[in-house]
Amino acid sequence: MTTTTDPILPAPLEDLVALFDVRPTDVPTSDAERAEALRAPKFGTKFTDHMARISWTAADGWKDRRIEKYGPLQLDPATAVLHYAQEIFEGLKAYKHADGSVWTFRPDENARRFARSAHRLALPALSVDDFIGSLAALVRTDIEWVPDGEDSSLYLRPFMYASEVFLGVRPSTEAEYIVIASPVGPYFSGGVQPVSIYVSEQYHRAGPPGGTGDAKFGGNYAASLLPQLQAQQEGFDQVCFLDAASSTYLEELGGMNVFLVTDDQKIHTPELGSILEGITRASVLQLAADRGYEVVERRIPLSEVVAGLESGRVTEFFACGTAAVVTPVGRLAGSSFDHELNGGKPGELTMALRQELTDIQYGRAADRHGWMRRLA
Ligand SMILES: *Cc1c(COP(=O)(O)O)cnc(C)c1O
Repeated sequence: MTTTTDPILPAPLEDLVALFDVRPTDVPTSDAERAEALRAPKFGTKFTDHMARISWTAADGWKDRRIEKYGPLQLDPATAVLHYAQEIFEGLKAYKHADGSVWTFRPDENARRFARSAHRLALPALSVDDFIGSLAALVRTDIEWVPDGEDSSLYLRPFMYASEVFLGVRPSTEAEYIVIASPVGPYFSGGVQPVSIYVSEQYHRAGPPGGTGDAKFGGNYAASLLPQLQAQQEGFDQVCFLDAASSTYLEELGGMNVFLVTDDQKIHTPELGSILEGITRASVLQLAADRGYEVVERRIPLSEVVAGLESGRVTEFFACGTAAVVTPVGRLAGSSFDHELNGGKPGELTMALRQELTDIQYGRAADRHGWMRRLA
């Protein structure tokens, strides 16, 4: 017997989309305005006409699946999330292929990670079916907002917050799940540019294992803002954090995982535990293994990286995540070291992995691992 909640045999997408009641906006964006918004969209500044939404109460569970007008939320000042940050989010993209169809990348992985984040933040789990159904229902309603330029996409931002009006410290008995969508152009407007990274030995983005580092939780980002600001004031693009227990091992950037390549055909990345389990990270590990690289997930001491940069054993360093895909690092510095990588130019494997991943996402290369899922 199969049901719509069977985790092994998901319901057909049409059935999932049909659960959403579409309530069209009364103030649709004109074709001219939308064309303007899609011309050179800056990340996260323009939003489509609608949002997907599902409400939850402890008594009734998830209910009222709908697509409604995009617009401000009215929050009572005592709404729990404003006080105790009980909130989680996800990020993925919808890509238009040459034939006009719209696809997304490994959404089941985002759905499962969203459920894990919910568990850690004592929020209710949303099913994989509802997660994917909400994406498809929103993309179908706002299909005209999916850009078709090279390296352009519709960024999808599902999130959930504690909506109960109550100041007591306990898990909220009410929650809202919302998906908003934002057209985005190429992350690097003038071609891919290596970024500079400052390794923070002073601040951490999250705690050791058992903390919230492996949840996609807004509070981790809040904790990263001060070190990020200070690094920017010193002329760096991003901060890399070390493990919170010993400040010894590499962890990740505020919103991207990190990798290094060594001269013996190996590619290394910090092991899971207190870092966010990136879907780009998992995909890069697979694509590198497919190319014959030995992939190593382990604890990576900063001292080893610095020594490797000095000796030339570390040949490439890159960061990865959905928003910027694979981003070469051209300079890595800390309180007592400052190294340029590869003459400040993007590494060869870095760029090959970036190309291969985007080719799969935009339908230019065969999807040999079955990662793509059609939304519309
Ligand atoms: C979202 C995120 C990533 C990247 O995850 P992807 O699934 O590859 O987009 C990495 N680190 C942190 C802290 C994140 O929040």
